[in-house]
Amino acid sequence: MTFRTGPVVHLKPGREKSLRRWHPWVFSGAIARVEGTPNAGDTVIVTAANGTPLGLGAYSPHSQIRVRLWTFDPYQDIDAAFLLGKVEAAVARRGTPDEGDGAPWGRRLINAENDGLPGLIVDRYGDHLVAQILAAGCERWKEEIADALLAATGCVGLYERSDADVRIKEGLSVRAGHWRGQEAPEVVEFRENGVRLLVDVRLGHKTGFYLDQRSARARVGQLAAGRDVLNCFAYTGGFGLAALAGGAAHVTHLESSAGALAMAARHGELNGFESSRWTGVEADAFTRLRQWQQEDRTFDLIVLDPPKFIESRQHLPRGCRGYKDINMQALKLLRPGGLLVTFSCSGLLEADLFQKIVSDAALDAGRDLQLIDRLQQADDHPVLMSFPEGAYLKGLICRAD
Ligand code: SAH
Repeated sequence: MTFRTGPVVHLKPGREKSLRRWHPWVFSGAIARVEGTPNAGDTVIVTAANGTPLGLGAYSPHSQIRVRLWTFDPYQDIDAAFLLGKVEAAVARRGTPDEGDGAPWGRRLINAENDGLPGLIVDRYGDHLVAQILAAGCERWKEEIADALLAATGCVGLYERSDADVRIKEGLSVRAGHWRGQEAPEVVEFRENGVRLLVDVRLGHKTGFYLDQRSARARVGQLAAGRDVLNCFAYTGGFGLAALAGGAAHVTHLESSAGALAMAARHGELNGFESSRWTGVEADAFTRLRQWQQEDRTFDLIVLDPPKFIESRQHLPRGCRGYKDINMQALKLLRPGGLLVTFSCSGLLEADLFQKIVSDAALDAGRDLQLIDRLQQADDHPVLMSFPEGAYLKGLICRAD
């Protein structure tokens, strides 16, 4: 086997440590010099200061994350066959593409770094795929990746949702649209824990649906029987629909987006839940929870699944205050013995600190709170153990006295 030639990224002394632990990122500050003139997305050899080759990665000249590693084997070829192998392995790990009864499924098929494909997110809804290309390496190989995705899944259509802001940090422009195969219909239907769901791949958030909460929604379904449920930050209704399927007495979806609430209503009808069992409220959660306190409105189970409050380190203090406030306001609405199911999807907020914030919120709300369980992202969103950044979603199930 001959060692490959091409551009080389030489690390500063000592900066090879994280790569030796198979962490797949090289930050710009770790680089001593670049030999050759790699373009965005080109494959580079990464070497330690003593010249030892450590692996091959995709070069991203505009990003703080200057290289994302494809492999720690410097003798591999990065080509269509390599990418197909990674895609096939990730798809095989998700198992058969149905809920066991032939009903079409929704799953994350490719979870970026965690599946060995840095910067690539692919979700499957029924027979349609939605991809987000978030880094220069995947951008360079995008047509080969599209071929691999369709070959590995047999899906009929592929839609691109590369309209996330993180692309700008990579020096890439935002882009969304039909990519391969059949055009996606107005909504794609799939099934989750027995609930019928519709996803608008064009206008929905991210790739259209928050698949990462699948296992947590199943859990809420098990806890909901007979309860008066508040589904706060409802989006298209996911947690509330799980609660209704689980026998909830009533669900209130609280959400600021009218479009998302309209879809939640459509979901209620599609699943045959009587309209007297659910209500949609279009409002800002921070304001409405306070208003309900004034009105003595209470609930037996509250799900709090807010958007990411912490986008970067500088937002950490403000984001923490946001989490504390929303949890405190929710706790004030819980009936004695009520359950709070609370989440943070901010990767920069560690699980221990999140738990402390919820604990502080309970103190300030004057409620005794028992921790019953911890939740994390569903198993189709695996976390590579050498890449702790992959674990972003954490949840707590608590009971208030
Ligand atoms: N729980 C949902 C996902 C929630 S994503 C699910 O299972 O699918 C967060 C949602 O909060 C988004 O739909 C967003 O529109 C909504 N949102 C953001 N800020 C809000 C606010 N201040 N008040 C109410 N809803 C808000």
